Amino acid sequence: MIKVTIWNEYEHERKIPAIYEVYPEGIHGALKNGFKTESDLIVRCATLDEPEQGLPEEILADTDVLIWWSHARQEDVTDETVERVIRHIHSGMGFIALHSAHYSKIFRRLMGTPCTLSWRHGDSEKLFCANPAHPIAQGVPACIDIPEEELYGEPFSIPNPDDVVFLGWFAGGAVFRSGCTFTRGYGKIFYFQPGHEEAPVYEHPDIRRILINAVRWAAPTTRLPAPPDNVAL
Ligand code: ZN
Repeated sequence: MIKVTIWNEYEHERKIPAIYEVYPEGIHGALKNGFKTESDLIVRCATLDEPEQGLPEEILADTDVLIWWSHARQEDVTDETVERVIRHIHSGMGFIALHSAHYSKIFRRLMGTPCTLSWRHGDSEKLFCANPAHPIAQGVPACIDIPEEELYGEPFSIPNPDDVVFLGWFAGGAVFRSGCTFTRGYGKIFYFQPGHEEAPVYEHPDIRRILINAVRWAAPTTRLPAPPDNVAL
């Protein structure tokens, strides 16, 4: 079994009626519904206003893959939470950063670069599979139409990924490395761009398939202590 924790800042869906309409159960609720069909996944949700920002040590120690959606409250994530999550990623916990979590403290720390990009609301996207042999692309069509999505454009200031699995093309005139993998410590990381809060992108069956694949790919085969400090021999 793979233990998945969906961590959501849970801000827009509570405060903005139009976004509540899109995701009445929260973005975390919609993501969780997308995993219902998979009997090998044990899924729980956590949100930022819960004790220890939803991620106390016991939860992280019991999580194989952490999924994070954030936008409005990036700066509210405390340094203690960042340290705790990064230590678990370094020891092998998988990490999936969704959409505007590209600019979260955790993702920027993991990348070591600004993670900036260009953006514009109110566009549409064609998501192309750039690496059909990759485990995250199994059962995914060559191109997925996302009728409403926020434009994200290059340059995306990340280090060169291990793999670019998906490329986004936006009608407004931009392209983007929309699905990228990285390794940090023993942890596998997937950044996935679709999922702006104003449209129900996480209910799209092909997007759900990608996230199911990503969870299975990112799950650790073995959980180890984080890499040790320098050791004198
Ligand atoms: Zn957005």
